[in-house]
Amino acid sequence: MSLNIGLDIGGTKIAGAVVDEHGHVVARGRRSTDRGAEAVASTCADLVRELAVHRQIAGVGMAVAGFVDATGSHVSYGTNLGLQDEPMKLRMESLIDYPVVLDNDANAAAWGEYRFGAGQGYDHILAITVGTGIGGGIIIGRRMLRGAYGFAAEIGHIRMVKNGPQCGCGNKGCWEMYASGNALLRAGRALVASGTPHAAKLRATCDDDPAKLKGKSITALAKEGDPACRELLEDLGSWVGVGAASMVAVLDPEVIVVGGGVVEAGDLLLDSARRSFRRNLTARGHRPEAQFIPATLGNDAGMIGAAALAAELLQAVDAVVPGAAGSTPATSTAFSTANKATTSTTKKTAQSTPTQATAPSGRGRRSTQGDA
Ligand SMILES: [Zn+2]
Repeated sequence: MSLNIGLDIGGTKIAGAVVDEHGHVVARGRRSTDRGAEAVASTCADLVRELAVHRQIAGVGMAVAGFVDATGSHVSYGTNLGLQDEPMKLRMESLIDYPVVLDNDANAAAWGEYRFGAGQGYDHILAITVGTGIGGGIIIGRRMLRGAYGFAAEIGHIRMVKNGPQCGCGNKGCWEMYASGNALLRAGRALVASGTPHAAKLRATCDDDPAKLKGKSITALAKEGDPACRELLEDLGSWVGVGAASMVAVLDPEVIVVGGGVVEAGDLLLDSARRSFRRNLTARGHRPEAQFIPATLGNDAGMIGAAALAAELLQAVDAVVPGAAGSTPATSTAFSTANKATTSTTKKTAQSTPTQATAPSGRGRRSTQGDA
């Protein structure tokens, strides 16, 4: 049985799991972390050592909240973790005796859903994670889209409204300013502040103080049928659908896998997203429509995806460098060499690196559409 460790590294905590070749979590752990490269790496290494006790671990995948460069070696920028141009792969491999694969957390979550979750059996997937903001992962032709520099799929920052609300990215009116947990909270607070009797139940949850309002109160009341809160979720879903229609005009995926905390609202949000998506879809009536499906791995998607990326890269390296697989420091060297190949002209090798990860072929197709 092949086991890999997947780490999901967020702003304040690190979640880790030992994942088998079927995407099942066989053990898990958790740590809180401070900001900065040293703190993040030593906490990750500590968690890996704990999870690896009495287990044969092949590799470690790290899903980082931040931009990871296209070679998978550096965290270019991770604002919540205090990381900038940080050679995290090398730093980690100096602390543990396993090869390390580095990727962005939204990419890893998308890969997890693609390999073992809602996206299984599809070759062209747009994954949208509606959390505090919007995260995205794009898999086209069984390959992760990373772009030239690793900055692709930042879908939350496509511009929806000129001069809209200020976004943390520096622009105004980004998609995530309208379709995210933060956007839902902002709309709810405005409703509470208006003092409308229509939102009496919502106002009661926070003693009429907009600052005390919690996003989950909106979802809970909507589920109970409260009309004001249902409207808030429908508005949010509508924005999800509008943005998804624009993404589909570019990418033409088979499915749109929607995950993230807001998705707990289920069809209250997804039905509205589907309606708005259809209304805004280009060439509708002339094309197969991508289906909206809820993600199935929940908070484990990032860890499972990161472990899968590590497993797949390790297999690819093993194929290129005979006898490279295993958990010796020599493997780390092989990994580094393979990662460098992303910048070489050897296209075949580059395609096996995380820059353009591909899943093993030969899986059954669920859809009859797509490429031939
Ligand atoms: Zn933005």
